[in-house]
Amino acid sequence: MVHVVNLVVHTELYEILGVSVTASEDEIKKAYRKKAREHHPDKNPNDPEASQRFQELSGAYEILSDSAKREDYNNYGLEGLAGGSGVDPSDLFEMFAHSGFSFAFGGPPPKRKAKDSTIPYEVTLEDLYNGKQVKMNMEKDVICSTCNGSGAKGNAKPKTCVKCDGNGFIITTTPLGGSMFTQGRSTCPDCQGVGEKLREKDRCKKCKGKKVVSEKKRHEITIEKGMANGQRIVLHGEGDQVPGTPPGDVIFVLQLQRHDAFERSGNDLLAKVQITLSEALLGFSRVLIKHLDGRGLKVNSPPNKIIKTSDTIVLKGEGMPHLHRPGEKGDLYIIFSVEFPSEDWLQTVDHQALEKLLPPKKPELDPQPEVVEEAKYEEGDFVDVRARSFPAGAEFMDQNFTSQFGEGDDDAWTDEDDDEDGPECSQQ
Ligand SMILES: [Zn+2]
Ligand SMILES: [Zn+2]
Repeated sequence: MVHVVNLVVHTELYEILGVSVTASEDEIKKAYRKKAREHHPDKNPNDPEASQRFQELSGAYEILSDSAKREDYNNYGLEGLAGGSGVDPSDLFEMFAHSGFSFAFGGPPPKRKAKDSTIPYEVTLEDLYNGKQVKMNMEKDVICSTCNGSGAKGNAKPKTCVKCDGNGFIITTTPLGGSMFTQGRSTCPDCQGVGEKLREKDRCKKCKGKKVVSEKKRHEITIEKGMANGQRIVLHGEGDQVPGTPPGDVIFVLQLQRHDAFERSGNDLLAKVQITLSEALLGFSRVLIKHLDGRGLKVNSPPNKIIKTSDTIVLKGEGMPHLHRPGEKGDLYIIFSVEFPSEDWLQTVDHQALEKLLPPKKPELDPQPEVVEEAKYEEGDFVDVRARSFPAGAEFMDQNFTSQFGEGDDDAWTDEDDDEDGPECSQQ
């Protein structure tokens, strides 16, 4: 991977020593000695900030005089020194923070451990309700046991990379037009920034110089009851192994699939249930829905209650289990929609008898408008009308479509549920 970093990003330490970012080791050494003499606290007994400045100088020199640390700093700033360099970055931050320097803490993350592997894992709502153990085989890079991660055959040593002359990076210039150009640096593609590289014949036979080999491993992950969409299950240290750094993690990210019957909202569930016109008017006592654990939930509607489309009831304690406390559950909201009978059914009944049973039709307007015209009837599409017309009326019309989720007239229902703790709603 080629990583391009502009030279100008991390210059604070060079500024402390007063050298250019391309200064040689020798120039850095000379600049440090000169400045250290100048700012030594012994020489500035009356300057309370002298010792602070002297510390900064020493800190900057400690990093820039070491080619590996300097490289890390160039690429990642002070944060990049967090891993493997033996320097505690918090000491550095502390050392420089007093002096009012501002460091850019953006950029790549510190190189503390190898890259994590993130794997999306599809789950059903049933999985999250009931919990699940998943066994899977995974392949990952492990340190080659033949060369112990050196990549070399026997005691063969890597040679200085020819392409970058051991620097680990190459300088690239990009023209900006005219006589202007910008200079940048790229990680050396031949040695991947190491500065050294093994010759073909010196490479380990088993890993072919790659230092790692692929290995299969069986893993078991636990999907706990009540886990959420997007939740991460982390297998610490099970990621790819990289020589010289602790391995990364394997992270499964749960991806909840759509469910046909239920929707989840936090720990609550939402289900839409269709009832017939006869049930809407006369009530029902039946299994309304099959739950995520396979139980049927039987519900008795209260007597003398008419149920309209989008009326909502709540079945307390029938929602999702709480994570880590699966004995506690959210609620299940059931939203009704009333299914009208078909036209086929209409042809089988006596219309006059039906009219006598139903509430009366609307009477004519009284008084009648002076002008009454016969209007032509056509099938329409209400959604279409809303999309393209009257902005002024939109708000009024929206009110008819306000969701009643959670605001249902559920008193009659919950009372009934509480009184008779029937088998239909008991937890198992
Ligand atoms: Zn190189
Ligand atoms: Zn090897």
